[in-house]
Amino acid sequence: MTLLERFIKYINIDTTSSSLVDKTPSNDNQKILAKLLQEELLEIGAETYFDEDHCYLYATLKGDEKLPKIGFIAHMDTSEDAKGNEIIPNIISDYDGKDIILANGNVLSTTDYPNLKDQIGNTLITTDGRTLLGADDKAGIAEIMTMLEHFAKTKTHHGDICVAFTPDEEIGKGMDYFDYEKFAAPIAYTVDGSTLGEICYENFNAASAKIEIEGKSCHCGTAKGIMANAILIANALVSSLPNETPSNTEGYEGFYHIEKFQGTVSFAYLEYLIRDFDKENFEKRKQLFEELVSKLNEKYDNRIKLTIKDSYYNMRNIIEKDMSVVELATNAMKLIGVKPIIIPMRGGTDGAEATYHGLPCPNIGTGGHNFHGTHEYVSVEDMEKTSEILIAMVKENTASKVLTKGE
Ligand SMILES: [Zn+2]
Repeated sequence: MTLLERFIKYINIDTTSSSLVDKTPSNDNQKILAKLLQEELLEIGAETYFDEDHCYLYATLKGDEKLPKIGFIAHMDTSEDAKGNEIIPNIISDYDGKDIILANGNVLSTTDYPNLKDQIGNTLITTDGRTLLGADDKAGIAEIMTMLEHFAKTKTHHGDICVAFTPDEEIGKGMDYFDYEKFAAPIAYTVDGSTLGEICYENFNAASAKIEIEGKSCHCGTAKGIMANAILIANALVSSLPNETPSNTEGYEGFYHIEKFQGTVSFAYLEYLIRDFDKENFEKRKQLFEELVSKLNEKYDNRIKLTIKDSYYNMRNIIEKDMSVVELATNAMKLIGVKPIIIPMRGGTDGAEATYHGLPCPNIGTGGHNFHGTHEYVSVEDMEKTSEILIAMVKENTASKVLTKGE
């Protein structure tokens, strides 16, 4: 099976996860994909274990016991932000670099997406304009499977290659039931990024803040000195925060993001996301929130209740202590002529959680672009090149003998 054939087969299965469902997997279709992958893995010659309850598929392509192990992780679900069923891929061979008019008239414009120019001459896969494509993260899965098949066929000398396909990453539950004991590799990579050659070992430190404001309602005509309008108090808090919002920040800049604002005179409820790459600034952001609330509480009779909860941390804090896991990826890319692009991820990744569990896990680009929407696209060439990167990483790991468990 070619990489393209694999990819088309995987995107045919609707695995849209749902944040409204409180079980893992949130959509049982993910099990259909998992079982299909398990069959393919067995055919390749890998040992597999399927946690059917929670839909985690683990596989090991056994190698030389004495050589270091390496792991790769990709997620089986797709984002609920766009329609993910009945995907009809649009395959354009020898792309000419012009705007692409999708089947429903929707346009993939080179002005909006200048990266399209990098794909001239390539075989491009887009959507038909109605759905997402599912390159996030089925490109990652297809690339990992192709890499495994390569090693199974060529009998190259390598250590164990450990793989995990996880459910529900898009709704933040990808690692909830991950079995770290079962996954024997001491280092791993999520293959879940965008541009070819991307390596990410930095993500936000993240917290959420919930604000409940108890107002005091009464008749407007006799409200003087009595009414405490929860909406106005909420507004005072919102306007006292710095204007560092997602739409005002980029690169390494952190932000406060209000994502819920509900209110009546007698009660208001707000939810914020707090994000910063720097640990110290992250703490300062949370502290500022507390200070502002405490000031407003002095003014408004302790009507505001603030609950801040940390969500995840920047994996850089751990990875920078031993950069060999990043160097392995950059060396592998350079060996096959791909320029490594090291970028901070303005979000979270399953790898961050794994890293804090003792499994260092940077993220590698899949070649896909414009995830979570109808403008998603990927080229066959970039997927094939990514698969070559994974092959080179296994070889590098075999050669370097770095970071073996217990060494
Ligand atoms: Zn993804």
